[in-house]
Amino acid sequence: MFGIIKVRIMQGDQAIPDVKKAVLNPAFRGFPVISPGCGRLSFDADKICPTGALKNDPVSIDMGKCVFCGECGRACKNAEIEMSYCHHISADSREKLIIKPGDKYLEFEDAAVMARAEIKRLFGRSLKLRQVSAGGCNGCEMELNACTNVNFDMGRFGIDFVASPRHADGIVITGPVTKNMAPALEDTYKAIASPKIIIAAGTCAISGGIFKDSEELDRSFFDRHKVDLYVPGCQVHPLTFVNGVLRFLGHK
Ligand code: SF4
Repeated sequence: MFGIIKVRIMQGDQAIPDVKKAVLNPAFRGFPVISPGCGRLSFDADKICPTGALKNDPVSIDMGKCVFCGECGRACKNAEIEMSYCHHISADSREKLIIKPGDKYLEFEDAAVMARAEIKRLFGRSLKLRQVSAGGCNGCEMELNACTNVNFDMGRFGIDFVASPRHADGIVITGPVTKNMAPALEDTYKAIASPKIIIAAGTCAISGGIFKDSEELDRSFFDRHKVDLYVPGCQVHPLTFVNGVLRFLGHK
């Protein structure tokens, strides 16, 4: 008994005290910074970028398609593109995920996720989410699981994953949505009582990612339903998810 208590004291406090201020290791590849004067890249973007996220003339990077591989940064002769380690990259619309020259990561999420008064009122103190893995590799799913562990502990904000859509306020989609999973995704969404929210987590869910041209996908769900929050990443970092949802709920 005393031995267990002693070990527990030695372990110390494992939770990140303030997830909003947490900083990641510089090796993490997050918000891609394009230098302000970058008018045209010195290489063929289509040959370098595996997902078509990088566009040339004018230069832009679509974080909804980007897998954060860093190849574009390595191909730049004059450091026109550098991957920052900023993980605050969520947005409430697809257009806001497109990064242009001069865009700053420090200000990005403030403007990219607007807390709606209705969402704050309904879900600000308690948000239960049903997660659907719609053909993903399990990378994003494992990271989302980590959101509830002792380090990230999103339960302290009243945010949690639940086992049944009947108990949920919204759905979190991961994976590119395969034909096999499309009916299950639709059924799960229908089983959630209104009002409800949709969160697309990870590059595959947002755009199809590296599978976007596969004949085995059925992404018509996104034609029928509007996504409320996009959380980019390949895979999604728990701090990206927790911070994006907190901002969406209006937590300062
Ligand atoms: S980091 Fe993103 S934009 Fe750059 S090459 Fe990789 S996928 Fe394309």
